[in-house]
Amino acid sequence: MKITGLRLGRIKVPLTTPFKTAIRTVNEIDDLIVILETDGPLFGIGSTPSTPHITGCDHKLTSQMIEQFVFPAIKGCDITEIRENTKRVQASTEKANNAKSAIEIALYDLWSKQLNLPLSKALGGSLEEIQTGITISANPVFDMIADIEKAIAKGYRLMKLKCGTEPAADQSRLTKIFHFVATLRQKTELMIDANQGWTTEQTLYIMRQLESAGMVFKALEQPVKHNDLKGLLAIKEAITTPLMVDETCFNLKQATYLLDKGIANQINVKLVKSAGISEAIKIGQLGEQRLIPCMMGCMLEGAIGVAAAAHVAAAFPVQFKYVDLDGPTLGQYNPIDQGTRFEKSKVYLNKTPGLGISKIPTLSPNRC
Ligand SMILES: [Mg+2]
Repeated sequence: MKITGLRLGRIKVPLTTPFKTAIRTVNEIDDLIVILETDGPLFGIGSTPSTPHITGCDHKLTSQMIEQFVFPAIKGCDITEIRENTKRVQASTEKANNAKSAIEIALYDLWSKQLNLPLSKALGGSLEEIQTGITISANPVFDMIADIEKAIAKGYRLMKLKCGTEPAADQSRLTKIFHFVATLRQKTELMIDANQGWTTEQTLYIMRQLESAGMVFKALEQPVKHNDLKGLLAIKEAITTPLMVDETCFNLKQATYLLDKGIANQINVKLVKSAGISEAIKIGQLGEQRLIPCMMGCMLEGAIGVAAAAHVAAAFPVQFKYVDLDGPTLGQYNPIDQGTRFEKSKVYLNKTPGLGISKIPTLSPNRC
């Protein structure tokens, strides 16, 4: 079966509550949808969010990159050639991470559909459900504690606390949250994500205060600017909390460099950053070799792209020790009524072939 055509569309879903990090506030999930058509009965679906602040790609640029470079590189190719097709995608143009990620998701969807297997099983996995953590937005501490209580009631065990918006207040905010969680009977693991919002000095001060008071966090994610490798190394060497890189690490080359230099203890992998599934798996495997746990994360994005990430995480549970795929649950509704189900802290993978999506009733035209 050969790839013959391309369709682009959009799906927007309003968020239940605005999503706040040190960088921005967002009110809706807005995904660009890719549909790969074939000369047979199958089609492949992929998606990507707009992430100009991280990858430099908004939907307008991503659409152009797909139409001009990425799709032409696989047009006419056989859907069984997943290895060759992902290489063609990666070689089609420089950067364009969002475009490559969306097309790779659609390629893997097609490939696993023709194998008549769910994507995770086609990748060699056996899990049918996984547990995800949840992100707690940066807000006044009482609001964050209220969000944590709600999350615990929904079964979440791993929570990522967004901070970095007010470095001066973060230490006391984290302290109050830690002590609140410590009073609970329910075992809850906390990570900190400062989203590049602290300086090295602020990070060292805050973490020394927290650690010397006996507070234990599963990770400190991306405290300083993505290109501040010196700062990251100084922080990693000074603190006992594992240092996770996010915005500093997009691809295998960067991951290898960071681990060679001893700059990170953990890596947050996201399909948009790694430009797709093929490179995300390679980073996970590198982590396994170096005894570096990875997290499978996502952007603020909906059920198609996050389902693909969930299938990869389920297929490689040793490599992706942590899962942070809460994107679809932040929307007011799920526009995809098929495929992987995101129910509170549980992600139930579809048992149908590929990503299990055979139609998208809510697809609207792609107007950029
Ligand atoms: Mg992060």
